[in-house]
Amino acid sequence: MPLLVRYHLEGVRNALPRETLRERAPTMWRYRELLPVRHVENIVSLGEAMTPIVSVPRIARKIGGGELLIKQEGMLPTGSFKARGQAVAISMARELGVKAAVIPSAGNAGAAMAAYCTRAGIPSYVFCPDDTPTPIVAQTALQGAKVFLVNGLLDECGRVAGANAKAHGWFDMSTLKEPYRIEGKKTMGLELAEQLGWVLPDVIFYPTGGGTGFIGMWKAFDEMEAIGWIGPKRPRMVCVQSAGCGPIVKAWQEGKAKSERWENANTFAGGLRAPVAIGDYLILQIIRESNGFGILISDDEIRDAWQEVGHTEGLLMCPEGAATYAAYKKALGDGRVSRAERVLLFDTANGLKYEMPPAGKRIDKARPLDLS
Ligand SMILES: *Cc1c(COP(=O)(O)O)cnc(C)c1O
Repeated sequence: MPLLVRYHLEGVRNALPRETLRERAPTMWRYRELLPVRHVENIVSLGEAMTPIVSVPRIARKIGGGELLIKQEGMLPTGSFKARGQAVAISMARELGVKAAVIPSAGNAGAAMAAYCTRAGIPSYVFCPDDTPTPIVAQTALQGAKVFLVNGLLDECGRVAGANAKAHGWFDMSTLKEPYRIEGKKTMGLELAEQLGWVLPDVIFYPTGGGTGFIGMWKAFDEMEAIGWIGPKRPRMVCVQSAGCGPIVKAWQEGKAKSERWENANTFAGGLRAPVAIGDYLILQIIRESNGFGILISDDEIRDAWQEVGHTEGLLMCPEGAATYAAYKKALGDGRVSRAERVLLFDTANGLKYEMPPAGKRIDKARPLDLS
C-alpha cells in the first residue's frame, strides 16, 4: 500500500490565503506549506520553474475540437516532469539522512533522481531497461549516477534494484514505495489551478505509467478545496496508456478494482511502459469518481500525433505527450469528449530527449535546388 502524506490543512488554510502566492518566486516551492520539507535549507533545487500552459487553437480547429491547452513539462530541469517528484523526494532524503539512493526507471525518473542526488551529494544508482533511449541513459550518467542497463522490463529492473537496495543499504526510490515523489508531482495540480485563475479544466488527459502524477493531482485538488482555494468541481480524469502496455485501462474497461501485469509490454513511449502499477487501485478509483475514462493508443497513432502537433503548432511533444493528443482526437471522434469541454493535455517531457525519425534531404551544393 502506498503511503500518502497528510497535512494539518486547517493550519495551512489560515497561514496561506492564495493571495500570498503573488509575492512568491515562480517555482514549485511557492507551495511549500503543502510540501513535506520542514527546513528550507534541505531543499535541493535546480530551478524548478512553473511550466507554461500553451493554447493550441489551430490544431483544435483542424479536428473540430474545443478549447485545447497543453502543459509543457519539458521546461523543467532534466527535461521532464519527473524533476518535480525527485526534487521533493531527494530534499526529503537529505532531510532524513539517506546515504545512497537507487531507482528502477524507464529513463526520465532515473535522470531526474541522478541530477538531484548529485546536487545533494548523495550517490545514486539507476537500473533501466536496456532499450531506454540513448540520450536519456547518457544524460543520467553525465549527471553523476551509475547506470545499469537490464535485459528486462521496468518491473524486472525493480526487482534487481530492490535486491541491491537490501544488499548495499541503498534507499529505494521506486514509484510509490516512498511517499514524497507524489508530493512533488502534486504541484502540477496546484500550479495549473493557479495558472488558470482557480478554474480547473473540464478534462485532463494524462499519459499514465505508474500514475504518480494522476494520483498527485487528485490529491492536490482535494487539499486545495480543504484550504479554500477552489470549490468542489473536479476535472474528468482521463488515463492514457499504450495499446502495447495498458494494464490500468484494461482493468477500467473490465470494471475491475485492480489491474494485472501486462505481459510483453511494448511501446516506444517509454514512460507508458510500466507493466505493473502498485497504485493501480487509486488510479482506477479516481477515473470512476471523476467520471473520466481510460483509453489505449497505438505506437502508430502516437507517431502520427507527434508529427501532426509538430507540423501544425510547431510544438515538439514527447511521445507520451503525443499520446494524449491522439487520445483527445479519438475521444472527440467517438463523443467521449465534447467540443464544449475545455481540455488540458500533459506533455510530460522535452521531445528532444527521444530518438526521432530521420529527416533532411541531402543536396549537391553545385546544383540548383530541386523542391519536388
Ligand atoms: C514517467 C513518465 C510518464 C508517466 O508518469 P507517471 O506519473 O509515472 O504515470 C509519462 N511521460 C513521461 C515522459 C514520463 O517520463
